[in-house]
Amino acid sequence: MSANTDYDTRRCANHPDAEGRYYCSKYGRHLCESCAVCVDPKLYCKFRSQCIIWELEKYDRLN
Ligand SMILES: [Zn+2]
Repeated sequence: MSANTDYDTRRCANHPDAEGRYYCSKYGRHLCESCAVCVDPKLYCKFRSQCIIWELEKYDRLN
């Protein structure tokens, strides 16, 4: 029996101690709040319309 929980894998790709609250579908990794920035805004992302990271960035630019 393995202790395979989603919780363990949902860690920020840059900060193993931080909770990966946001998921980048393009790169398949979780990011914490301070890392939730699209790293390749110019590169086509087929998940963009539903990407929370992209939405957050977009919203940030408007303000
Ligand atoms: Zn982070």
